[in-house]
Amino acid sequence: MSTSYEIIDHAYDVVVVGAGGAGLRATLGAAQAGLKTACVTKVFPTRSHTVAAQGGISASLGNMGEDDWRWHMYDTVKGSDWLGDQDSIEYLCKHAPAAVYELEHWGVPFSRTEEGKIYQRAFGGMTKNFGEGPVQRTCAAADRTGHAILHTLYGQAVRQKAEFFIEYFALDLIMDNGECKGILAWKLDDGTIHRFRAKNTILATGGYGRAFFSCTSAHTCTGDGNAMVLRAGLPLQDMEFVQFHPTGIYGAGCLITEGARGEGGYLTNSEGERFMERYAPSAKDLASRDVVSRAMTIEIREGRGVGSGKDHIHLNLNHIPAETLAERLPGISETARVFSGVDVTKEPIPVLPTVHYNMGGIPTNYHGEVITKKGEDNDAIVPGLMAIGEAGCVSVHGANRLGSNSLIDLVVFGRAAGLRCAEIVDPSTPVPETPKAADDFALQRLDRFRHASGGTPTAQLRLAMQKAMQENCAVFRTGEVLAEGQEKMGKVHTGVADISVTDRSMIWNTDLVETLEFDNLVGQATVTMDGAANRQESRGAHSREDYPDRDDNEWMKHTIAWYEDGKSVIDYRPVHTWTMSNDIAYIEPKARVY
Ligand SMILES: Cc1cc2nc3c(=O)[nH]c(=O)nc-3n(C[C@H](O)[C@H](O)[C@H](O)COP(=O)(O)OP(=O)(O)OC[C@H]3O[C@@H](n4cnc5c(N)ncnc54)[C@H](O)[C@@H]3O)c2cc1C
Repeated sequence: MSTSYEIIDHAYDVVVVGAGGAGLRATLGAAQAGLKTACVTKVFPTRSHTVAAQGGISASLGNMGEDDWRWHMYDTVKGSDWLGDQDSIEYLCKHAPAAVYELEHWGVPFSRTEEGKIYQRAFGGMTKNFGEGPVQRTCAAADRTGHAILHTLYGQAVRQKAEFFIEYFALDLIMDNGECKGILAWKLDDGTIHRFRAKNTILATGGYGRAFFSCTSAHTCTGDGNAMVLRAGLPLQDMEFVQFHPTGIYGAGCLITEGARGEGGYLTNSEGERFMERYAPSAKDLASRDVVSRAMTIEIREGRGVGSGKDHIHLNLNHIPAETLAERLPGISETARVFSGVDVTKEPIPVLPTVHYNMGGIPTNYHGEVITKKGEDNDAIVPGLMAIGEAGCVSVHGANRLGSNSLIDLVVFGRAAGLRCAEIVDPSTPVPETPKAADDFALQRLDRFRHASGGTPTAQLRLAMQKAMQENCAVFRTGEVLAEGQEKMGKVHTGVADISVTDRSMIWNTDLVETLEFDNLVGQATVTMDGAANRQESRGAHSREDYPDRDDNEWMKHTIAWYEDGKSVIDYRPVHTWTMSNDIAYIEPKARVY
């Protein structure tokens, strides 16, 4: 084994890792501020998972009836089951309309109303007048909103002369005495190693849906940034909160957007009953995602699932006029045809709750700065490091994210991170040198896997992890099932020592990439399972059958988890029970009914 790689050195004011919606918005902002900015990404920017976002982006524009950012804030706090930090939620909802207009002016081709305004559709949990009834708040470009946003942002970032390093796989953070000074990356097409020194590093590496067997996210969603943070000895926050989207296509996992129900679609069981009326009498099919996913799971468990195995549910769109489907939902009409052989104008789509989004991630404040707990300080800033997008946990989504609140999170906090860089990064000073120990740390891990000659293929261990997460960390959880899951994850962790990688080359070594990604997932899966076993209450997406109630006295706090030697070390941060300004008061907790 050797760590004698030649390292190619780069120096930037700001290095952004990730070119999804969050990374591109931050790259653009930092470059706009006159900072020398690099964006490093393992896939071509427009192939990031953001491209798959369908339904839309929330903002209280009020184009389809009255709306107010305070109502959006109320819905988001309630959706979060009071685990969200209200200062951050205020920042999100207040800045959302301007962020959407900015996208419009940059060229996002939004769908239009008769008068030519941005079209908005109804989405789950979005209401007017603090919970009084549905509101159309989700701005959409048909059902290809993420595609439209990502392509526009990429064009704008290139225009600002940001430098792109495409198909570079970030390995680890360069840490120096608790401060982040850049990253080390592997260039996949020629096998060279690159050191990106930076005054500020922004992680925008997306979620880790691939820890689960069935998910709507891309194969590249392996939470690499989260894993780098764990390896740097920093904690992740609220990882036990994993969102299951009610309508993944049965068997394939591909997403059918909530916008389908926003346009009038509804769910039925084997008796043809619109069962959501029983579970959420007022919001019905547009209750929040955790509520709908649980209702579907109960219907299936009680024998009212559809199909020969009685193991899924029907989503009906066939009552919606064919022209509306063609105009508003063309993408999912095609997805349903390809992946379930269904003509949506005639038949229902077979669907099942599927892992979709990670509420947890790298804890930050609303400037995007990464925070940790240090002694008495619950919000201690980690100098030189930021995190945004699905990788981050600024905690606007708390225990459950509302549909269309992620795309807005990407652009609002991507923008905030760029603005913060403009304030704290001085372009006139030299970029600091970095310690050799940090290079060695990253390269020794790379070498360990590159030369791994054990007996177990990566795919086999990955499957064991994905099955454990799917079966033992699901929509409903109990202490017993989670304990079994912890045992299974322990075995996966031990199994890593016996991993086998067959390709030793450095050029397009997908065997090694997948192994590094798998290793990244193991830590995240473990803190997710352990966090779920630890949290003895039900809140948002975390539903414990043995602790069915929300317990604000004991558990209205963020879990923060470090990962050491295959085990989680758990502590807590208080939830922010204050707002950012005097424009709105703290929204007091109450029971969450839809
Ligand atoms: C099918 C689907 C539909 C969705 N629809 C909606 C919707 O309608 N509305 C909504 O609000 N939300 C939606 N979401 C959620 C939302 O799209 C995502 O949360 C969001 O796009 C994540 O964006 P991101 O910028 O954080 O990360 P991603 O878009 O996932 O990008 C991650 C980036 O990080 C880079 N990266 C990762 N690891 C490394 C590494 N090791 N080295 C270098 N680069 C790396 C990747 O190359 C990529 O560029 C949907 C999600 C899915 C899966």
